[in-house]
Amino acid sequence: MADKRLSHAYMLVGPEGRSRDEAARRLAAALLCPSEEPPCGQCRDCRKALEGIHPDVTVIRREQGDNQLRREIRVGQIRQMTADAAIAPNEAARKVYIIDQAERMNPQAQNALLKALEDPPGHACFILCTAAADGLLETVRSRCVLAGEPALRQSRLPGMTELARAYLEAAASGDMAEVTLCCMSRAKLTAEQTEAFAGEVKDAVSGILCGREANPGLTPERLLRLAALMDETEDYLRHNVQPRQIFGVLAAETLR
Ligand SMILES: [Zn+2]
Repeated sequence: MADKRLSHAYMLVGPEGRSRDEAARRLAAALLCPSEEPPCGQCRDCRKALEGIHPDVTVIRREQGDNQLRREIRVGQIRQMTADAAIAPNEAARKVYIIDQAERMNPQAQNALLKALEDPPGHACFILCTAAADGLLETVRSRCVLAGEPALRQSRLPGMTELARAYLEAAASGDMAEVTLCCMSRAKLTAEQTEAFAGEVKDAVSGILCGREANPGLTPERLLRLAALMDETEDYLRHNVQPRQIFGVLAAETLR
């Protein structure tokens, strides 16, 4: 069950800048770190990934043209990346490709990426960094974990931001009793509120990963698993599963 949630494609949504770059490096470290609680920050893979010098982490960004950066990330760059992704890693168990300003990929580049996302080489992971997720093809977006940006969400309901925050804090506590209590106290939410709650949790995860919000003490990997749980919550709601049952599942799955 846990492995199923380890995706090979992630989207980091947030404003350009150092905190987003650092969030991408932390996520890369989490994907490469062999420890029980990645990223440990201590091992060779973590240290190199955090410093931006890991041979299995490649950053794709706009290339230098004549005197200035090109406007777009071009298809040739993505083809080169996918060719490289087919080659075994140098040091770690995986290879990570960070695509900075992913929304700058032109349509051909996005389609080339889509092929890689549909049929990824077993050891390759992709991190798409973007300030404008709606600049990405829906087919690309839908293959990435974490898409919780407020601009695209439909419902914001009073009180849900606080409930989402309290849920993340309970998850960070690692205390099963606290998580159960937290989830059970939400069992009376309506379906609409539950959907808003799931969206708020994903927003908070996105904000924490990008350094906009304080982290209650969760690793990037755990944050992404919680975001994936919220994706499942939304799927359950679409299939008319009752909030009471959904929060029962969340109580059982949050700390796994
Ligand atoms: Zn490590």
